[in-house]
Formats: sequence, structure tokens, C-alpha cells
Amino acid sequence: MIEFDKEHIWHPYTSMIDPLPVCSVRAAHGVYIELENGQKLIDGMSSWWCVVHGYNHPELNRAAHEQIDRMSHVMFGGLTHEPAVELARKLVDMTPEGLNRVFYCDSGSVAVEVAVKMALQYMQASGRRSRTRLATIRGGYHGDTWHAMSVCDPVGGMHTLYAGRLPVQYFAPRPESRFDGEWQVADLEQMERLLAEHQEEIAAVILEPIVQGAGGMWFYHPEYLRGVRALCDRYGILLIADEIATGFGRTGRMFACEWAGITPDIMCLGKAITGGYMSFAAVMATDSVALTISEHEPHVFMHGPTFMGNPLACAVANASLRLLIEHSPLPRIAQIEQTMKQWLAPARKLPAVADVRVLGAIGVVEMRRPVDMAQLQRRCVEEGVWIRPFGRLVYIMPPYIITNEQLGKLCDAMLKLFR
Ligand SMILES: *Cc1c(COP(=O)(O)O)cnc(C)c1O
Repeated sequence: MIEFDKEHIWHPYTSMIDPLPVCSVRAAHGVYIELENGQKLIDGMSSWWCVVHGYNHPELNRAAHEQIDRMSHVMFGGLTHEPAVELARKLVDMTPEGLNRVFYCDSGSVAVEVAVKMALQYMQASGRRSRTRLATIRGGYHGDTWHAMSVCDPVGGMHTLYAGRLPVQYFAPRPESRFDGEWQVADLEQMERLLAEHQEEIAAVILEPIVQGAGGMWFYHPEYLRGVRALCDRYGILLIADEIATGFGRTGRMFACEWAGITPDIMCLGKAITGGYMSFAAVMATDSVALTISEHEPHVFMHGPTFMGNPLACAVANASLRLLIEHSPLPRIAQIEQTMKQWLAPARKLPAVADVRVLGAIGVVEMRRPVDMAQLQRRCVEEGVWIRPFGRLVYIMPPYIITNEQLGKLCDAMLKLFR
């Protein structure tokens, strides 16, 4: 099996000639990933931010079974169904005040494309046709599709590879004020200058609120987000919050925008929305965005994927959100944060470590040098944990159901790696 895999199947960001080794998984339960040889690994990654309730959750399984016996899919053009309506009710209710309109799509990257199209169509509808570009901050990650790539970090992202083809956007520096540090007003200066100077060209600012994920696992000060919201208002620019990684509790609030008490004009949701069961995403918009688009030619929003509002995904998302609403994970996430702060603190003293930071259920150890991924992955598996670092970053973001004992093992294994 491994041989065929290596010969024929592409894995994320890998070579077909010299791929990194892969482990074969036969099942997963709770926080455990079970390998083909029977070994069980504590999952420190939540399968890239999404498996918040753990694997094989009885209520999510039940929701999927019940829905699949009714219908797994019908087209969304001209039809609707209870799972989609119920989910929209929950999303409108949970997300920051004012985000009343829901657009369903297939994945995070597509949600970013949809958000960008909304912003451009909004500007066109309101007669500001020159506003076709985006502004963002360095160190971001927004997905692998075309416009999403164009707003990923210009150094760490794929800009060089597609130079001359990608749309050219405006970049402000990454805010340096740490989430829990002093607020430095100077952080906002360059963004302010950029927006003032190019306001007639810019449709929207897109950013990951508070936590920049795959672009560098950086946590910045809420005052920055408040500042950007105010600047967008001043210059008539829309604010797109990409909450695909941060949404549904990960940072210690249900949505990271809540740390700054702001409502974006457009919000992208994905990853944990189905509790990690399947690919699905939603784009939330304000009445103003939705109505402005609809009041002007062509009076419709021009997007409609085949699997839009997929009933199976909606049903599982409903079960996942019901768990989050009925048994808030936030108190447990606060404990996870405290435990990680305590257990990862010793890493700070190690010479190879540049920084340790923890927020919500995200624990990051930043090394001085890039890590050897293949070697690190092998050592993690030997320790009975699943951690997948990138570049200089070794990090964990476990499922919220992890026990203190399991979390202790995860942190212990992580510390061992740096010795
Ligand atoms: C993962 C991610 C995306 C892309 O989502 P996919 O489902 O992988 O397409 C976009 N934005 C952020 C912030 C992400 O973390």
C-alpha cells in the first residue's frame, strides 16, 4: 500500500520523486489516530485545526447516518432543506452581530475566493469600479487557490513561483505587538499610509484576526484589529476576516474577532465547521454587502458550486455546532491554555528555541533554525504522538476533548524533541 501510494498519489506540498514518508492510518477514535500496525498516536494537530470534538464522535456519527438515510445531496439551485436552514440560523446567531447573510461553499480556499468576489462585486455595484485590489498583512495564509494565494505571505507563499500571473496586492508589515504584550501604535502606521494612499484602488482588507496560522503561527494585539476596522470605515474599504482556522473556539473565544469586539463586513468559516468530518465552508456577510450587490446589475451574486449547501455536510455541521452551543468548550480551552503555558514554558530556556507562545488551544514553539521534518515526524511517532511541524515552527492544537494526562504526554513529547 505504501509503495503504491508513493508511486501514484500526491500528498500536500510534496515531490513525486522524493516524498516525505507517510504513515498509514486504519482508524481514529477520540484524540487517537490508530496506525495500520496497531500503534495509537495522540493527535496534536486536530487534523489541521478541524477535528475539535475528536474522531468518531457518537453525535456527529449519528447526524451523518440519519442524514445519509434521508438524502446525502440535492442541488441548492431552486431547492432548500432543513439542515441548511438550521445551520444558517445557528451561524447568524453565533457570529458577531450584523453578519446575517450566509453563502455556503466547498472549502476554505473557495470561501476566500467567494469573499473576494463579494467585495469586488460590492464595489462595482456601488459605482466604485476602480476598487479592484486587496490589502493584507505579511505572514498570512488564506489558501491555495488563485486570489487566496495572492494574499498569502509574499516571501513564504507561492508568489515567486507564479510571478507575473498572480494578481498584485498591497502588503502592510505584520503587526509586531504581541497578543498579550504592550500595544505599539506604530504597528498601524504603514497600514494607515497604504490605505490612505491607495483607497481608490482597494476593495477590501483581508486578514486572519488575532492568530496568523499557516503563515507563521503569530498572535497579535487586538488593538491592531480594532485599528484596521476603523481605517476600513474611514476609507470605505470592506474588512474580510478569514476565521477559517480561528473560528469555533480555537483562540479561546468563539470567533477571534470577539477579542477586538469588531464585526467584519465579510467572514470566512471552514475547517472546524463540520467538526472535521468533511470539507465545507461558509461565508457570512452583512446586510449592506448582500443588499448592495443585489440592488444593482446583475442583481445576483455570481457564484454557485455544485455541492453548495450539501445536506450531509450541513447536518454534521449542525451536530458539531450544537455541541459547541450546548456545552461551551471555552472553559476547557482556557484550562488547555493554562496547562500548555505551564508545560511548554521550560522550552524557553533551551538554546535552540527562539520563542514559546500559547493562546487558547494553540501552543507554539518557534525554533531558531528550520527543523528536519522527516526526522521529527519519526521521533514523534516513536513517542506516541502526532505532530507535524513546518519550517521553524513546532506547534500543537489538540482536539478540545483532550484530557490533561493526554495533553501532558503531548507536551512532554514535544519538549523531548528539542533536547
Ligand atoms: C486552511 C486555511 C484556508 C484554506 O482552507 P482549505 O479548506 O484548506 O482550502 C484559508 N484560510 C485560513 C486562515 C486557513 O487556515
